Amino acid sequence: MRSRGWSLLLLEFGLVSSIPLLAHHGNAAYDYTVTKTVKGIVTEWTWSNPHCLLKVNSKDEKGNVTHWILETNSPVDLLRTGWTATSVKPGDEVTVDVIPTKNGTPVGRIGRVVLADGTVLSTDPLAVIFIRDGAYWTKGGVGGNTGFVVGKDGVIVFDAKMTPNSAKEMIAAIAKVTPKPVTHVVLSHSDGDHVNGLSGFPKGVTIIAQENCKREMEESKDSRMAAAQDYLPTKIFDKNLDLTIDGVRVQLRHWVPAHTSGDLIMLLPDERIVFGGDLIDLTQFALVHTQKGGSTEGWITSMKGIIDLDADTFVSGHGDLQTKSALRARLTAVEARRQKIKEMIASGRSLEEIKKTAPPEEPPTGPFGSPGFTEVVYNEFAKHPS
Ligand SMILES: [Zn+2]
Repeated sequence: MRSRGWSLLLLEFGLVSSIPLLAHHGNAAYDYTVTKTVKGIVTEWTWSNPHCLLKVNSKDEKGNVTHWILETNSPVDLLRTGWTATSVKPGDEVTVDVIPTKNGTPVGRIGRVVLADGTVLSTDPLAVIFIRDGAYWTKGGVGGNTGFVVGKDGVIVFDAKMTPNSAKEMIAAIAKVTPKPVTHVVLSHSDGDHVNGLSGFPKGVTIIAQENCKREMEESKDSRMAAAQDYLPTKIFDKNLDLTIDGVRVQLRHWVPAHTSGDLIMLLPDERIVFGGDLIDLTQFALVHTQKGGSTEGWITSMKGIIDLDADTFVSGHGDLQTKSALRARLTAVEARRQKIKEMIASGRSLEEIKKTAPPEEPPTGPFGSPGFTEVVYNEFAKHPS
């Protein structure tokens, strides 16, 4: 209770701006088992040692304003993960993943910040993790997970991070593993957190994608999350493309539109590794972007295709490595939930009623407020009953 009184007192008198919170609390004050979403308007962003501070005013449905004080890393650490002193500004609308304090005060640690244009600022440092036989994956930095394979003369990279700076950081991390240059980039799909780092790659790399991915990148050119139009895919295909790149056997597969219209997975048949992008993102229930032609039926078809591959290690677009049994369990849950939604629609239940029956592992909304699984399935069956 002492620390609660202390925090509230400081909040009331606005004394916190330059006092590092952890100096008083220690890490133990935060509840790392919980992530809270704080949505609001930035009132102050302090770029200073030892910890940067973000202040956000968040309004509830009744109009009550809470003044959040959110702490994050030092400027040096933040620069490494793509932040700058002007990444956020007073007046910006932000959605922040917050690790809250145990005692419930409006104070917390920043997990990540999503700006109104969809830009994600993460506090995770980039990490390179060895899998086997020259194959690695990376997590952290800004954007989705990536992978890379070291061949005879060059390196094949899977996905490009979200910002050119984060891509450059990844390329620098690859250079610590091997002196061979990056020659090829394979794109899992067109989402900005997987392709918008492309302009951080050297000019002239071969960029391989499914043909619909290229089209979606072209179509994004006037959007807020535009793909770099001078880094469009240079080699495209429809269903299957088998290649040997620098002595590495690579099999690219696209089944049907699923997460987006242009998903692919990369199988390394000799290493039995699959790089799956967001098709195997189990941090979401089964994330489908209908605005990019995705469908839950396609997700199920593609997941069955992935499970049938002769592989035992699955690199996901977000979250940890996955096993075949984890993918199978998710497929079963998604099929069952989809069937249940279909039956509830047939018995005349409304979308709101059906949403209330969603299991806890199914988030009510997807990233950036996009419809969650229940709503996507509802729209699919309500518009095209089958
Ligand atoms: Zn995606």
